[in-house]
Amino acid sequence: MGSLQSEAGSAGAEERRIVIIGSGPAGYTAALYAARASLQPLVIAGLEPGGQLTTTTDVENYPGYTDGVMGPEMMEDFRRQAVRFGADIRPGVVTRVDLSLRPFRLVVDDEAAVMAEALIIATGASARYLGLDNERRLLGRGVSACATCDGAFFWGEELAVVGGGDSAMEESLFLTRFASKVTVIHRRDAFRASKIMQERVFAHRKIHVLWDAVVIDVLGEDSVTGVRVRSTRNGTVRDLSVGALFVAIGHTPNTQLFKQWLTMDEQGYLVTEPRSTLTDIPGVFACGDVQDRKYRQAVTAAGTGCMAAIDAEHFLAQADAAKSAPGA
Ligand code: NAP
Repeated sequence: MGSLQSEAGSAGAEERRIVIIGSGPAGYTAALYAARASLQPLVIAGLEPGGQLTTTTDVENYPGYTDGVMGPEMMEDFRRQAVRFGADIRPGVVTRVDLSLRPFRLVVDDEAAVMAEALIIATGASARYLGLDNERRLLGRGVSACATCDGAFFWGEELAVVGGGDSAMEESLFLTRFASKVTVIHRRDAFRASKIMQERVFAHRKIHVLWDAVVIDVLGEDSVTGVRVRSTRNGTVRDLSVGALFVAIGHTPNTQLFKQWLTMDEQGYLVTEPRSTLTDIPGVFACGDVQDRKYRQAVTAAGTGCMAAIDAEHFLAQADAAKSAPGA
């Protein structure tokens, strides 16, 4: 990839001390701390402003919300708190980055160039899919990764959810508001979801669990009419008649943009130094789900967002001191 100098032009590019890419709990918390440090951060909100929590319903485990809170409402609280201290939150998607020189150059929506003295990457993670041809073909026509977004389209129907983590539990519980029956299809004989979520699923009269089964095809011409599943125990194949398939099998970190520049692990998560948000390029920091393959909670994302802002603030202070040192 060549330098972006030529395509966006460095003259006239907006100059910022800190740019934050992403607007989930990590990005907004980084913005709050950077704004309070008088660094006037620019947040490029990304494809899904507010991040993954804007597609969830009740958040019951974020400390401070005693009675729980709806995901979108919580993210609006995060946004307003950052704005209150001067964060500049802008819609748009960063389409290219050049991290070869500092200030770093970003291109937003393929046109506007922004120069950043420090960069905080909080691009989060996106839903994974099974990788079946018909799953792709029927996406948006009965295949979905977001029950909150699409569940209400399937009033009174039988539905399927694939996965065994907290997302699958949450999606299936939410779908009981609309569905006549929800079948959770899981490839093993035990869920990895938290105990409390599992118990709610097991206790719900509308939810049935199909253990030791994998989805091998999605059926239907114009919209989903069923899924084909194969037993991992004895290989038998059968079709389930459902109006929609909700895929909840985890997430992939949104790091495509940084492939050329930053070290990632084998699953594509950005690698940061232990107990910090430093990446292998000085002045570039990563926080939230984009660098967290283990905890992946809103509260841990917010925590690392705070760390990234403090790490960036220290970095900029040191860079300023070095610039003004005698003989610099
Ligand atoms: P996850 O915990 O990684 O679970 C993914 C599930 O999908 C696993 O059960 C996995 O099976 C299954 N799976 C993966 N690839 C598959 C494939 N190709 N075919 C079939 N099944 C497949 O992901 P998550 O549920 O999205 O949760 C991510 C993180 O967010 C977790 O830390 C979770 O605690 C958190 N979260 C929390 C809440 C909450 O607290 N309310 C809600 C949602 C998410 P195996 O078990 O066999 O590996």
